[in-house]
Amino acid sequence: MTERHSETAPASPPPRRRITRQEQEPASGEVTEVTPGVLRMQLPIWMPGLGHVNMYGLVDDRGVALVDPGLPGPRSWSTLKRRLRSAGFEFRHVHTVVVTHSHPDHYGAAGHVVKKTGARLVTHCAFETFAEASPPLGPSEAADAEREAAALAALLGVENDVPPEDFLPSSGAAAGPFSNPTPWGEAQSNRWRMRGVILRAFRRLFIAPRPTHRVRNDDVVTLAGREWRAVYTPGHTPDHLCLFDPDSGALLSGDHVLPTITPHISGMAEGFDTLGAYLATLDHVAKLPDVGVGLPAHGHPFDDVPGRVADITAHHVERMEKLAAAGEALGPATVRSLSRELFPERHWG
Ligand SMILES: [Zn+2]
Repeated sequence: MTERHSETAPASPPPRRRITRQEQEPASGEVTEVTPGVLRMQLPIWMPGLGHVNMYGLVDDRGVALVDPGLPGPRSWSTLKRRLRSAGFEFRHVHTVVVTHSHPDHYGAAGHVVKKTGARLVTHCAFETFAEASPPLGPSEAADAEREAAALAALLGVENDVPPEDFLPSSGAAAGPFSNPTPWGEAQSNRWRMRGVILRAFRRLFIAPRPTHRVRNDDVVTLAGREWRAVYTPGHTPDHLCLFDPDSGALLSGDHVLPTITPHISGMAEGFDTLGAYLATLDHVAKLPDVGVGLPAHGHPFDDVPGRVADITAHHVERMEKLAAAGEALGPATVRSLSRELFPERHWG
């Protein structure tokens, strides 16, 4: 399996992309204390549109808790070890891992950290990765799988690029939700099938994370000597969790509130109004009493959480108005034709 993919994946370095947003900046080696007792450590990621993920270290007299320990795979793992060391910690100091939601750049290494440290794993009670990991890969297989997925992800991130058909394994190999027809009956595009291949690579790389503490909205989690409140924020995923410290106003916002980009709102959760849930819980975090600094999973910490929430909400209102207008102009229309009214050509498909 690994060899066949090595043949189809390019050996050349991934295409470069112009950095226009802070979330795309490459992972800096700097460890910074962003609010007392909370360290920001950046890990490299190889997903379209993102350059790093922030792993926060919450320091107390027992050691350190890690929030969102990044992607699975050898590259992120070796950086994680370096960052911990720069912050003055060893694996034996890690007593807790918190995962904000079930995307691989957040939970991917959680199983490895837990296995290495025996730390407890805290998630929202709805947390679900929908996948059992395969048996552990050897170091060279893991490096191959990571390279393959990174090359595909880099291609996905290149605007106007149409991936060649022969770049992908046969559709049978890209098993899972991405190989079936779309809900509106069309064949999957190559771009979409590539996502399936990337997802499969993730599953081969990670150790299935098994939460030991599943929290609900308003539960208290004591970390860094503070009593954080669990804030359930579905929308980006159905299991998204933020943590809020009412004393300092700090909000670990995960992907729920990002400084300059808006998180993808999934349509994959059946029978669940994801955008409705997202907008309602955005409003909820904006109204947290004395909410102060936002500590996002990508990009820099930001001061004005309510202001950023207002911008994101306005963006969605504008898009919904555009969609409503397109619906009126087109009359009964297919998903494809409506999406073409909403998005520039490079995002079609
Ligand atoms: Zn995410």
